[in-house]
Amino acid sequence: MAQSPGEIAGKPRHLYIRTFGCQMNEYDSLRVQRLLAPHGYIVVQEIAEADVVFLNTCAVREKAEQKVFSFIGRLRKLKRTKPHLKLIAGGCVAQQLGAKLLSRFDHLDMVLGTRGISSIAQLLERVEIDGKRIACLPDSDSADPGEEGREAFLEGALTAPVTIMQGCNNFCTYCIVPYVRGPERSRPSDEILREIAALEATGVREVLLLGQNVNSYGMGLKEETTFVDLIHRSASETGISRIRFTTSHPKDLTDDLMRCFSEVDSLCKHLHLPVQSGSDRILARMNRGYTASDYRAKIRRLREICPEIALTSDVIVGFPGETDEDFRQTMDLLAEVRFENLFSFRYSDRPKAKAVLFPDKVDPETGGRRLVALQEYQAGITLQKNLAEVGLFREVLTEGASKASRGQMTGRTTQNRIANFDAPAWTSGKMVKVKITTAYSHSLVGDIILGPGGAACP
Ligand code: SAM
Ligand code: SF4
Repeated sequence: MAQSPGEIAGKPRHLYIRTFGCQMNEYDSLRVQRLLAPHGYIVVQEIAEADVVFLNTCAVREKAEQKVFSFIGRLRKLKRTKPHLKLIAGGCVAQQLGAKLLSRFDHLDMVLGTRGISSIAQLLERVEIDGKRIACLPDSDSADPGEEGREAFLEGALTAPVTIMQGCNNFCTYCIVPYVRGPERSRPSDEILREIAALEATGVREVLLLGQNVNSYGMGLKEETTFVDLIHRSASETGISRIRFTTSHPKDLTDDLMRCFSEVDSLCKHLHLPVQSGSDRILARMNRGYTASDYRAKIRRLREICPEIALTSDVIVGFPGETDEDFRQTMDLLAEVRFENLFSFRYSDRPKAKAVLFPDKVDPETGGRRLVALQEYQAGITLQKNLAEVGLFREVLTEGASKASRGQMTGRTTQNRIANFDAPAWTSGKMVKVKITTAYSHSLVGDIILGPGGAACP
């Protein structure tokens, strides 16, 4: 019988995975680990021990891409000292640049597109045996092995992402995702529910349903289903304690979906709803499909339905053509909505995205100045919102010992705030009640309430 590449010389081989970018990439990295394990590969934490390095790359912003290039560049030295080392670049930069990445870095052995992951074991075998360098960029998914058995690789995890769909059809004019991740494809609902139930059975308490635009989940499937159905069924059929999801597109956020926040107890009271800009002119140029007042109306409705909901968002500053007045409108929207937290970025050109061709680019200095102003302003709001938590009782899923505060346990409130508190180790994995006593910019501190109505008993 032919040996698997990972078992050459009868020994397991060491796989080092480095993931850049979003939760989708983290999910794919776990999939690589799972696909290579039957071939004898075990994951190591130190790159120096690796026989194979898998880099899962991010191309969403120019800065993220630069990080990937410098990381690949630094691996040249390691490859010189360890010639048998195989280097694989996967993810969005790999999909975008393909064979060009092999030409740019002659120490790279394989470039694997976002839809080539299911073939990784066979391709690696070819690289190992023939010594040839490969660029594999399929434009549709090859036979997908499904996600069965994935839970075994999460090793004691209490929270886990579950991809419900891939790709995106929205073509926001700044965004590379539709070009590197392909068109939107939803997974059948029964398969997702089986995966959540299997995760729950191994101890996972919270799942994060993942997709670029989860609100349009179900499109193109043979069955008739929607994201709202999927939430209701995840809550009633799997036994999972908590459900989160990301990302929602404002244009597809329906009243039915908003109502899930009051109807489904296990749905966490947090919504990430990227607004991108507060100016209608810029939103139209971004091809977002809503106006700032549409967005404000949805926020008002959400807060009406679920007053305790926490809202976070993404904003891009310095989009081509953004004037001081457009930027002021974004700041006005932040002042009015008062998000719990915000992820903000300076616009960067991405290949193939339409905005690359927009002539009226904002100079980097202006963009940088706007970004600093916006981040400083939001930091104040985030702190005020955290301070308003002091004195409240919050349910927290204890995720284990805190790395930041020695001797304390840590977890997240349903609103997705980090809370640290003194508690016995047995509370790990339990849902506990915490009275918030102190607030910082990025976390809360509280007292655990033990006994009836508080923490569960061991
Ligand atoms: N699908 C999600 C959505 O619709 O908002 C997230 C997509 S993207 C992976 C995450 C964030 O990166 C976006 O919300 C946007 O704020 C930011 N982003 C995407 N392309 C960008 C670009 N060219 N320059 C700066 N920021 C960008
Ligand atoms: Fe990119 Fe827009 Fe799709 Fe989000 S919705 S992934 S920003 S194209």
